Amino acid sequence: MNHIENRKIREIIEQHERATLSARACLSCNSKGRQRPEDECDLRTCFQHDRDRILHSKSFRRLKHKTQVFLSPEGDHYRTRLTHTLEVAQIARTIARALFLNEDLTEAIALGHDLGHTPFGHVGERVLNRLCDGGFHHVRQSLRVVDVLEKDGCGLNLTAEVRDGILHHSKGNGPVDGGHKAATLEGQIVRYADIVAYVNHDLDDALRSGVVTAADVPACLLRGLGERHSRRINTMVNDIIAASQRSDTICMSVAVLQMVTQLRQWLFANVYRAAGVQTDFDKAGRVLEELYRYFADNPEKLRDYGALCLPGGSTSEWICDFLAGMTDRYAIKLYRDIFLPRPWAAV
Ligand code: MG
Repeated sequence: MNHIENRKIREIIEQHERATLSARACLSCNSKGRQRPEDECDLRTCFQHDRDRILHSKSFRRLKHKTQVFLSPEGDHYRTRLTHTLEVAQIARTIARALFLNEDLTEAIALGHDLGHTPFGHVGERVLNRLCDGGFHHVRQSLRVVDVLEKDGCGLNLTAEVRDGILHHSKGNGPVDGGHKAATLEGQIVRYADIVAYVNHDLDDALRSGVVTAADVPACLLRGLGERHSRRINTMVNDIIAASQRSDTICMSVAVLQMVTQLRQWLFANVYRAAGVQTDFDKAGRVLEELYRYFADNPEKLRDYGALCLPGGSTSEWICDFLAGMTDRYAIKLYRDIFLPRPWAAV
């Protein structure tokens, strides 16, 4: 046996990271560690292990039936929260690899970034924020999912760097380059990859659905970013890589950032708040609101329906965790079971 065969595969990968990644990369051997110390895997680095824990979680599988923009879409080609997450991960990995940063860390953060999203997209978030004690934000909830809710209240015990990246991925409707940044460049990449993914796929879905036509999109944006979907992603990804090579943070050039921000504003006005999209969202909001009030009045029913009800939590927290974790279709099914009469089965 030579000395390599005596070493764990993880240690060889860690050595490879030290030899090949940029001095700015977050190396897995330098992780600040997990919330609860544990023996590391022989095969995988801590960030690879985190990625796999997220991928195998139940919350991750539920993303498949959560709305991105178009509600429980009948069409097979609309994005869901799951395909959005996969697109973010792919874009983030491309950027990380090009900058010689830690691709595994970036991927883990990207796969976990939206685990806390409610059913019915942002309308679900608004309803829970209004009803729950202490408000609601999907970013906080994503961290809560990985820290405590997954594995029946044990959490996934992720590394500090993945948790930090999840907590700092969101920019909401605020400035793309502002707010509190992730501590690692890998986490900062996910913040940009998130907006690159969603402005592009939401535009693509909106065009295909007929909510808008290409002629509605400001011509200067198509000229500057590209006429086609793949061109636009390419422009943004290349711009992030080039600008970040010249900077000590992850960033975009002023010109492209301005166009991306303008495209996002245009999507808000013409797609996210379009009348045709809004009507069903109002109905979806009412479904969640009535479910919330039902369980607030009948907290003993929470466990009957499989809610986790963590020890020491308030009723509002229990309801919030339960509702936020639901898929669109489960929320609608539960609403039907609780509020609508069932047809008489006997003949
Ligand atoms: Mg996202």
